Amino acid sequence: AIFSDSPTHPLDALKDHFTLHDHQLHAITKTFLSEVSDGLSKYGHPMAMIPTYVKGVPNGSETGTFLALDLGGTNLRVCEVTLHGDKTFSIRQQKYKVSEALKTGEATTLFDYLADSVDAFLTVSPKAESPKIDGFRHTSFNDSDPPAVPLALTFSFPVEQTALDSGFLLTWTKGFSAKNAVGKDVVKLLQDAFDRKHIHVKCVALVNDTVGALLSRAYNTGGCMLGAIFGTGTNGAYVESVSNITKLGKHPTAAAGGMMIVNTEWGGFNNSRSVLPTTPWDNKLDRESINPRFQAFEKFISGMYLGEIARNVVLSFIDAAPKPLLFTGRSTPILNKQWAFDTAVLSEVEEAWTGLGRFSGSSEKDQRQRVRGVLLQRFEFESDDLVSLEDAATVRQICTLVVDRAARMSACAVAAILVQTGRARLGGEGKGELVDSGERIGVGVDGSLVEFYPNFQKKMRDSIRVLVGSEVESRVEIGMAKDGSGAGAALCALIAQKMS
Ligand code: ADP
Repeated sequence: AIFSDSPTHPLDALKDHFTLHDHQLHAITKTFLSEVSDGLSKYGHPMAMIPTYVKGVPNGSETGTFLALDLGGTNLRVCEVTLHGDKTFSIRQQKYKVSEALKTGEATTLFDYLADSVDAFLTVSPKAESPKIDGFRHTSFNDSDPPAVPLALTFSFPVEQTALDSGFLLTWTKGFSAKNAVGKDVVKLLQDAFDRKHIHVKCVALVNDTVGALLSRAYNTGGCMLGAIFGTGTNGAYVESVSNITKLGKHPTAAAGGMMIVNTEWGGFNNSRSVLPTTPWDNKLDRESINPRFQAFEKFISGMYLGEIARNVVLSFIDAAPKPLLFTGRSTPILNKQWAFDTAVLSEVEEAWTGLGRFSGSSEKDQRQRVRGVLLQRFEFESDDLVSLEDAATVRQICTLVVDRAARMSACAVAAILVQTGRARLGGEGKGELVDSGERIGVGVDGSLVEFYPNFQKKMRDSIRVLVGSEVESRVEIGMAKDGSGAGAALCALIAQKMS
């Protein structure tokens, strides 16, 4: 119905739906900035702007050995991170499986398991308990106590943080539902488990993965102002003036002034969708998701969703009337299955088209042939005849439209933070005190989408330039944040110790 009466070519019509014009980028960024302000001034906004109580950013000279515990997905990871003080670190780690029973049972059982895993790690490789390691600092309650090993917890679930070492679980996500945890302080749950078991470890910091990315990039490069994730989801954390976090009110931290890292939770930007360019395929995705009308921004950008948007478009092309526009109107069980079009396939299609990696040859026919090969392999068509070279070119265009839009919207988030922190002006608007400072602007990124999709960063930069101009854009240094949930957490533990 969308295409049948249209005199324009269906791909041109699709392009119209997905293209974000420069004026739209500006409008999105402007609204982003106003939601940043709302989130900084009151609690409960969808873009939560969570104060993290991390008030410093490392410069690479830090030293010490710390434990980090990372919970947030299929695996639980315990690591020992040694910061060498020369912008490098080394890491030893062990992964432990988290069973369904643990995810859905009693919270105390889950946290006992976390404590046991740390104990097992220390028993097998007790280096972290050795006081001989250079720069290692212990926490100790009084002189007669043997010192406890400091540990930072990277906990990738929504948490309202109330101090560097406390935060209340708002809700479980990602298949976790352990009972009697929501509303509780997760650091206390973990510390109680250590104490019950007489394990001599003290949880000194609670870290979000975006904050970890920011800290680890700062350590590696000498400075960083934004950490951003483009993986399963998207989110960012940046360094804000405490005086702008007005919702802190009379909290002692507010009186102390200075800077603080804020976890934006920008995936929840513009849930009203007043400014996001929603298409019928986005609406379908949202309606069929487990959280309709939430995480609106994230649903245009991140790895969990891009494949699904592309799948929705591909299906509508297969079903187009009066004449199918793809695969002679035939689908496959994989294409018919929700979420079965992995965003990794978008990367593969683009690699095949551009001739990157294991591909070679550069005529348009080579390109189409390679993409066709990817489609045949990934979607398991009943017969090779169902996919023509033209189909391959069409699917590649669909994929590019979906990812280009994501990269352009990602740029809005980055540009908004540049403007918010006075480093840029948006179309002449904003304070921009630091615009001409000549400062290099560090941005640490992590996540499979930004790491593996060909030229995702370049696409993002092109739009950042549109928004804030080439002078500022040229000073933005975007780089992968190495092991934010390990090294970043260790740095957070160090910051916690310096503050105590
Ligand atoms: P997480 O964000 O959960 O820590 P990742 O950063 O690996 O983990 O992101 C996983 C997401 O990235 C999944 O949604 C997956 O579809 C997507 N993804 C995995 N590999 C690629 C790739 N090569 N290109 C683009 N997206 C990918």
